[in-house]
Amino acid sequence: MIRILVADPLSSKALELLKEVAEFDLVYKPDVKREDLAAEISQFDALLIRGTRIDARILENAGNLRLIVRAGNGLDNIDLEKARAGGIEVRNTPEATAVSVAEYTIGLLIFAARFLGQAFCSMKEGRWERNELFNGVELQGKTMGIVGFGRIGSQVACRALAFGMRVVYNDILNIETDLPVNGYSLDELLDVSDFISLHVPLDQTTRHLISRAQLSKMKSDAILINTSRGGVIDDEALLETLDAGHLRAAVLDVFIDEPPKSERLIQHPRVYPFPHIGAGSGEGQARIHTEVVKVAKEFFNV
Ligand code: NAD
Repeated sequence: MIRILVADPLSSKALELLKEVAEFDLVYKPDVKREDLAAEISQFDALLIRGTRIDARILENAGNLRLIVRAGNGLDNIDLEKARAGGIEVRNTPEATAVSVAEYTIGLLIFAARFLGQAFCSMKEGRWERNELFNGVELQGKTMGIVGFGRIGSQVACRALAFGMRVVYNDILNIETDLPVNGYSLDELLDVSDFISLHVPLDQTTRHLISRAQLSKMKSDAILINTSRGGVIDDEALLETLDAGHLRAAVLDVFIDEPPKSERLIQHPRVYPFPHIGAGSGEGQARIHTEVVKVAKEFFNV
């Protein structure tokens, strides 16, 4: 039997599909404590997780573990180097939520461009504040700068083009695309974009990719959106930039600590925070769960 530990909540549908595989012996412990995980992990062939951090200490005791599947996109909660050094394959489900995150990103663009948050809150608080909220901006004719032109970035581009935006992107790879978009250096992109949306993974090359120097290159009325990972933006530099009156707004779905610890960041009047819900659609989550089962079956060839 192939022993699989599910160490984070997984949908009943996914659990059902996994249980249907005769070769799989499934243990479901969605609330397992870190010390128990470290103690028990060596008894399993595969580990299925969502956000649980799998660090070197846990991997030290991995024994015969052969596969870690992250039900979701980024792999920044797993010590990949340590896992690979131990011969453990690490997989994720990157396709599943690209559309959900892209649609959400466009929602955030409009949210910030038209002050939807302020309008909604002021009405709920019994105020009628039309005048203050009448200097929004349209998307049509504006330049959308996409940093990281992978699965999500390219889906955002399709939608931005449909709104009549001009789209430029920056990526470390040589991207081939049929879309009418232009590849720019990061500096060029920051210089020309009215909206800047981040879609890179968090790694050594992207940590604080957007810091003081980059923020200062943005247009003074640019809107910055981060649905990638906390840490891609240097938060201190962002606060300084906003306090200096630069940038129209920063819309943040992701934070270095989640929930975020910096009250100053969350409460800043031109920061629009959201609780990491970019992938939060029923369709996206359903795809994640069927994809997880597919990955495990393919890996063990069953
Ligand atoms: P992807 O791997 O398909 O695309 C990422 C792109 O970024 C690649 O083309 C890569 O070459 C590029 N890139 C990497 N380093 C770069 C750098 N230094 N400069 C410029 N480009 C760089 O990934 P994806 O599926 O599009 O997802 C992007 C990120 O979105 C994920 O890594 C994840 O962290 C985040 N995400 C967030 C949510 C959410 O709920 N907010 C959901 C899913 C994914």
